[in-house]
Amino acid sequence: MKKLIVASNNKGKLKEIKEILSGIYEVVPMGEAGFNEDIVEDGNTFFENALIKAKTVSEALGADALADDSGLCVEALGGAPGIYSARYSGHHGDDAANRVKLLKELEGKENRNAKFVSAVVLYKTNGEIVKGVGETYGKIAFKEEGTNGFGYDSLFISDDLHKSFGVASGEEKNSISHRKRALIDLLGHL
Ligand code: IMP
Repeated sequence: MKKLIVASNNKGKLKEIKEILSGIYEVVPMGEAGFNEDIVEDGNTFFENALIKAKTVSEALGADALADDSGLCVEALGGAPGIYSARYSGHHGDDAANRVKLLKELEGKENRNAKFVSAVVLYKTNGEIVKGVGETYGKIAFKEEGTNGFGYDSLFISDDLHKSFGVASGEEKNSISHRKRALIDLLGHL
């Protein structure tokens, strides 16, 4: 099977991308492919950040690379945390602190509507860019529900599944997730 380098160190994300692309690509995390540097994600959109990651890793390793940039957009917070989802609490990648901050920001708010967004980019060694985007809708819970998944999963009650991503199985989440929809979109453009 063809190998595909994925520009991420996020274990939760890598696991899902591996599962979604199984049978199509053998996913190789960038660390295993020899790229271990931090990438400055200073884009203004999910797409810009995905492109920065995919291009940086592709150019460093001389191979095609795929990146996902994703996040949670909450209606009552004007779309926040959005592209800042990973560092909402101020500490990059501190999922537990990010969830605490989200619950605090939503205290007293009745509108709990939210969506996860994923932008994926495949950057090829010839400079060609293939994109995909996906969204999935739900509501922010009043307390954590379940321990599956990563990030904000235990606070996201999926409109499709009628339960939180923290309670849903990996298979259930992958069947309707923003990441699955973005990757399907991208595969359709190949
Ligand atoms: P990125 O690595 O900059 O794309 O950060 C994505 C951040 O968005 C993660 O650290 C999570 O906080 C959040 N996020 C993205 N996708 C998901 C998901 O599927 N479940 C839960 N949180 C997610």
